[in-house]
Amino acid sequence: MGVLWSRLTAALLTGLALAGLTIDAIHPVLPWPVLWLPSVGGSTLLVASFWRTARAGNLPEPTRRFWRHLFPVAVLTGLGSIAQAYDMITTADPAGQHVSPGQMLFDGLAIILLIYALLRLPFGRQSGGELFRIVLDASTVMLACAVFAWHFSTRYALRDGDRSALYISLALTTLALLAVFAVAKVILTRPAGFVDPGALRLIGLGVLVGAVGPTLRPLLEPIDPHLFPDIVAMPLIFFLAGWAADRQQAADYTPRRGIRERRRRSFSFLPYVAIAAVDGLLLSVALPASAPDRQVIVLSAVALTALVVVRQITAFLDNGRLLNRLDHGATHDSLTQLPNRTLFHERLDKALTAPGERSVAVALIDLDDFKEVNDTLGHEVGDLLLIAVAQRLNACIRAEDTVARLGGDEFVVVLDGADPDAADLAAQRMIEALRAPVLADGHELPIRASIGIADGHSGDDASLLLRHADIAMYAAKAIAGTASLHFTPDMAQAGADHAHLGAELRDAIDGDQLYLLYQPIVALPDRRVIGAEALVRWRHPTHGTMPPQSFIPLAERTGLIVPLSNWVLRAAVRQLSLWTAAHGEDAPAVLNVNVSARDLREPGFAASVAALLDEYGVPPHRITLEITESMPVDARESSTTLAALRSLGVRVALDDFGTGHSSLTMLHDCPIDQLKLDSTFTQAEAGRVPVAATVLQLADALGLQAIAEGVETLDQADRLHELGYRSAQGFLFAQPLSPEEFGDLLTTTQAA
Ligand code: C2E
Ligand code: MG
Ligand code: MG
Repeated sequence: MGVLWSRLTAALLTGLALAGLTIDAIHPVLPWPVLWLPSVGGSTLLVASFWRTARAGNLPEPTRRFWRHLFPVAVLTGLGSIAQAYDMITTADPAGQHVSPGQMLFDGLAIILLIYALLRLPFGRQSGGELFRIVLDASTVMLACAVFAWHFSTRYALRDGDRSALYISLALTTLALLAVFAVAKVILTRPAGFVDPGALRLIGLGVLVGAVGPTLRPLLEPIDPHLFPDIVAMPLIFFLAGWAADRQQAADYTPRRGIRERRRRSFSFLPYVAIAAVDGLLLSVALPASAPDRQVIVLSAVALTALVVVRQITAFLDNGRLLNRLDHGATHDSLTQLPNRTLFHERLDKALTAPGERSVAVALIDLDDFKEVNDTLGHEVGDLLLIAVAQRLNACIRAEDTVARLGGDEFVVVLDGADPDAADLAAQRMIEALRAPVLADGHELPIRASIGIADGHSGDDASLLLRHADIAMYAAKAIAGTASLHFTPDMAQAGADHAHLGAELRDAIDGDQLYLLYQPIVALPDRRVIGAEALVRWRHPTHGTMPPQSFIPLAERTGLIVPLSNWVLRAAVRQLSLWTAAHGEDAPAVLNVNVSARDLREPGFAASVAALLDEYGVPPHRITLEITESMPVDARESSTTLAALRSLGVRVALDDFGTGHSSLTMLHDCPIDQLKLDSTFTQAEAGRVPVAATVLQLADALGLQAIAEGVETLDQADRLHELGYRSAQGFLFAQPLSPEEFGDLLTTTQAA
């Protein structure tokens, strides 16, 4: 029989039972055994319904288990009805509650099983406090039901003095109350989505009918002792329970992964309904029968509970609002108000598990040099920059996409339904949106960002996708300026290599794999060697000789730059002392050593340099520390270090001058002795904007020495000399040389 038919039939049976009972109550027409037939029919239908649901393949196992537990409940209540009907037919004069031993046994077992099934349901996680409140609420409901049971049933049994009736009544009431407790607990704890809530409510209603039904017996007994509320209550319960089973079977039940249940009302109305019911009962019982002064007390008591309830509910609503706000705080970043990592994962999971086949791209955006902005200009300016970036990203995406801040200067966008082409377009829009500089606190900050895109599909693993976007983002960082790259599998290898390389570099610094080359710095135009720059190399056991560009950035990111610089400084100072011993006057007057802005932030850096110079007996003015200017220096922390170094007598140079974005700020804030003109300007064709000339004028005006780097041709050397440069460095004069080659060079110049 179809689901619909079985439900219609169950409803019809209930209707027939009600009609039969009403007719017989008015005038006994139908033989009363007939009145029990709908119960028997209804129970058969119910058994079939439960059987179907317990075996429905579309339901997850915990759900089917619940209905498997309920199946014997249906069978037992069915048997109970048959036993009762049989007993009615065979008993001449049923009085009081008259529960047949058969029904008592079967129904008792059924209720115990039902309670077991309800309590076995997996619940959502509850804290201790929540559990306590649930028990309190369930007890409130139970107490209310007990009051009704007492008023309508138990007290009659007590009054009649019929001991067995009393026990039966008490036993039934206790069982019914236990069932009420189980149902209340289920409703209050909202089991984690394994049973259709509608179905649960219907079962709850059925249990309520079962608990309240027998209490109506005293109304029927005087009319005809053969009339029992069960005649209607049982088919009604079967109808409700069958409906619940059908509902469960039809529910589109797909367990959703990763999605947190939306926060619902933080309280249940159930206990308040119970309180209202008891108040109603109190009014109906006490008002008509009491003296006026007692009536006042009764009315006041009811009014008091009403006031307390209203007070409670408003407090709960307030709490709910507070929880929502906390929820927002827990899922949003407080600075930019963008969704945070948690909400991002939720959204990504949702996009990846949504029904149907679709593309989902993840774009990870990381600002380049943000740390330096933060360090140089302060956190307030850094915050303003982040807020501006958040707003721009948010404005350039589609409504169905999510921009989130993962933390620091890392943003991420979930591009729902975007294939690689669409993701590319989105990345272009982001690059466009970030093009204009941000005005923050009077500073004009250019934004450079690296965007890594991972292209995914329904069913992909969210964290893997994010990892891929991260790898692609790192690859994009290698491209100058703002750029985006899609993840490709070979990048993963590169990423793994990178991590590996970091570990190897550690060993290289401790072992003897690093060495220094020295490039002469010469005077113009006579090319006399006036100094040298120490340049580090890595003799890698498998990759061969590695240039600094392929490991210095890694060292800076990982902090390995600090021990690396210490190694370089010691080797360079030692070499200078060796040259001085060997060549005396002809040794380079000054040795330039590259250090990182990160070194300047190390407390005690200046002191360690002083100790080193002391150890090798090298006068401080023979060492120049070069700071790469493309990496801005934290003005506050570093300028103390720089000032300390200069007061020692050590000189400081700004390397690659003219390529960074805060050249002038740096000049202004940091004590400097030397500018090194970047090779881009040295090698610029004649007729281009004369940066070389301007830098020289600037150096002259500030009393700094200017050195032109990267001189490769005679032409360039001549032009620089004409502009006024007196020091230069480049392949034209010499490649970076080993200490021995450099020594030879010194000997030949000496000889010349
Ligand atoms: P830099 O300090 O500007 O060093 C000059 C770079 O230009 C060197 O590259 C040098 O070999 C190269 N060069 C010299 N003459 C010419 C030329 O005529 N034409 C061209 N195209 N290039 C020329 P190298 O040794 O590969 O170093 C690259 C960068 O790595 C350095 O730039 C410096 O920023 C960094 N670096 C090198 N050694 C160290 C070190 O010991 N510590 C730190 N922190 N950084 C270092
Ligand atoms: Mg340098
Ligand atoms: Mg340079």
